[in-house]
Amino acid sequence: MTGPAPSLGNPKNTIEILQKYRFVFQKKFGQNFLIDEHVLEKIIRAAQIGPDDFVVEIGPGIGTMTQYLAYQARGVAAVEIDRALIPILEDTLAEYDNVTIINEDVLKVDLTKLAQEMNGGKPVKIVANLPYYITTPIIMGLFERHVPVESITVMVQKEVAERMQAGPGSKDYGALSLAVQYYAEPYIVANVPPNCFMPRPGVGSAVIRLGTHREPPVKVKDEELMFGIIRASFNQRRKTLQNSVSHAPGLGISKETTAAVLEEMGLPVAVRGEAMSLAQFAQFADLVKDQIRT
Ligand code: SAM
Repeated sequence: MTGPAPSLGNPKNTIEILQKYRFVFQKKFGQNFLIDEHVLEKIIRAAQIGPDDFVVEIGPGIGTMTQYLAYQARGVAAVEIDRALIPILEDTLAEYDNVTIINEDVLKVDLTKLAQEMNGGKPVKIVANLPYYITTPIIMGLFERHVPVESITVMVQKEVAERMQAGPGSKDYGALSLAVQYYAEPYIVANVPPNCFMPRPGVGSAVIRLGTHREPPVKVKDEELMFGIIRASFNQRRKTLQNSVSHAPGLGISKETTAAVLEEMGLPVAVRGEAMSLAQFAQFADLVKDQIRT
């Protein structure tokens, strides 16, 4: 344990800080601060933070969750875009000597380098109440750039959490589900109502934990090709896989190739992407690659 027990996380103390600094919420930065201690404790428990862990927090706000993280972890790097929050963070985190505040846009930070410098290249844990306007680029950026990450425990919009966890046949199933599940095992920890935030968001929220796979659950020869096929097949959900894929610019896969591969897989030619599992997309991509080569 480092520093004092957290003091923020309840409406009274949060309001006191906001007033002390005359802080003005910036809608464009997706600022909805957590004011519920139970939810904060739940996030910390789900993230399984121990004294050896190094945590990267995205968007610390006034430092509410950062206090909880700093109290449990070996070290925390907190990346905050809003310059107006930096003096506040320096105040609320003054008694924790294991926190580094970085005033940057997280999408522009080289998190692999950060993990290298601050955790000797070992996997870090990501914990955040994410700004909802950039949830997908943040999460996909971590995966696609192969940042060494052990787990990602984040607050996101409820619908987005459901999409990440959905399987074939569900209305929420799509390119995001497949991408997330290729890299990680998603688990929805809790639903969180708007009254746990200040100001209240217009949507429901959920905490989701993504435990990253050591090895992807399916083997595929060409990841980029598979994700190109996946994106094309969900671009127009109601179209058959054959139509979406053969009309996708840039993929260069003909209708005949698609038909031949589907036949080889024993799938109907009118199958839609929404009915296909990750393993089937991987097999489809591998067979397409073989066909293109021959
Ligand atoms: N963690 C705090 C809490 O739970 O009370 C604040 C969460 S609030 C939903 C999102 C935070 O992310 C805000 O502090 C916002 O300024 C910050 N933010 C928004 N866009 C960002 C970006 N591109 N890079 C880093 N931080 C960002």
